[in-house]
Amino acid sequence: MENQSTYDIIIIGGGPIGLWASYYSGFRGMRTLLVEASDSLGGQAIYLYPEKKITDLPGIPEITGNELVNNLVIQMKSVNVESVLQTKVVSILDNNGNKVIITDKGRFEGKYILLTPGIGNFVPNKLGNSQVERFENNGLYYYVKNKEDFRNKNVLIVGGGDSAVDWAAEMINIAKDVYLVHRRDEFRAAEANIQKVIQGGVKIYTPYTLDSLIGNGKIEKAVLKKITDFSQIAVNVDSVIMMLGYKLDLSTIKGWNINLSQDGILIDPNCRTSDPKIFAAGDIASLKEGIKQKLLVIGFAQATTAVNYISKELRPYNPTFVHSTTKR
Ligand SMILES: Cc1cc2nc3c(=O)[nH]c(=O)nc-3n(C[C@H](O)[C@H](O)[C@H](O)COP(=O)(O)OP(=O)(O)OC[C@H]3O[C@@H](n4cnc5c(N)ncnc54)[C@H](O)[C@@H]3O)c2cc1C
Repeated sequence: MENQSTYDIIIIGGGPIGLWASYYSGFRGMRTLLVEASDSLGGQAIYLYPEKKITDLPGIPEITGNELVNNLVIQMKSVNVESVLQTKVVSILDNNGNKVIITDKGRFEGKYILLTPGIGNFVPNKLGNSQVERFENNGLYYYVKNKEDFRNKNVLIVGGGDSAVDWAAEMINIAKDVYLVHRRDEFRAAEANIQKVIQGGVKIYTPYTLDSLIGNGKIEKAVLKKITDFSQIAVNVDSVIMMLGYKLDLSTIKGWNINLSQDGILIDPNCRTSDPKIFAAGDIASLKEGIKQKLLVIGFAQATTAVNYISKELRPYNPTFVHSTTKR
């Protein structure tokens, strides 16, 4: 007889992709458990950019990280899904063809596991410059929780990727002056946001690096150094936001007996890992070939693929996928 406490799918990680996967798995009628390590659902969208406007989701012109997560939680709660917070998965074991996850709060058994732990713990990349890092918790930030903290401030943003350019664009109507410093001439960001930054009057310094911060107890000036000739310039700022990306922390997952690549868990086109009962989606998932794209839309699609594939394996006679209009 089947153990009634066995879930069809256990989803590990309650970021945007785990939330979507949970909804979709419940929608497909599977007994689902979502396990999240922190005390809130939402992952990076809640912890790293709750107020940033996301503008690259199909059919949604503009939505903040907070709003997106609220919507995903409402959607998940519309179906029958169980979830546990503050429960970190530390290992995965085999048990008579099922999987048992071991957490710091106990064990749960599932027929399949879907891994959506994103980048694991959020460990920001740093400059490794003590002249700068001495202002941590005192005007130097690695993520923005409340953009109102920067109202009428002189804000300097360091970085050249999407996050740096997005936040520079976002700060235009909040901060007094916005500076954007990048060590290369080219930004690796959406063209529309680069144009917003240029047209919005952001003071752009390229190719420059942040050399040091000056201030007595609080930041008063930032010294910028030109990469090409080492010349220096000081600008008046009171806040600095470092946007140099976040480290992928695979240390916990390394013991789970699945094949990893340098940038995550290796998956096949159906999002299956090297273990036939374990799938992965979102930022953690890494295809053997093709470009890695840490984007919501990619993760949502991967989660949908994984859940449909698992559903097909659990119930071979059911349709591979269903439309919401035919389901309800
Ligand atoms: C500043 C910034 C701006 C961005 N802007 C955009 C944008 O505009 N558009 C876009 O498409 N993408 C954007 N992204 C990328 C997008 O946020 C990610 O692609 C998305 O968050 C990936 O979701 P995820 O669920 O895979 O991982 P995450 O959001 O990282 O969530 C993973 C969750 O798993 C949990 N977890 C980890 N390990 C365990 C464990 N062992 N046990 C239990 N739980 C665990 C974590 O606590 C976390 O809640 C942005 C990213 C950043 C940093």
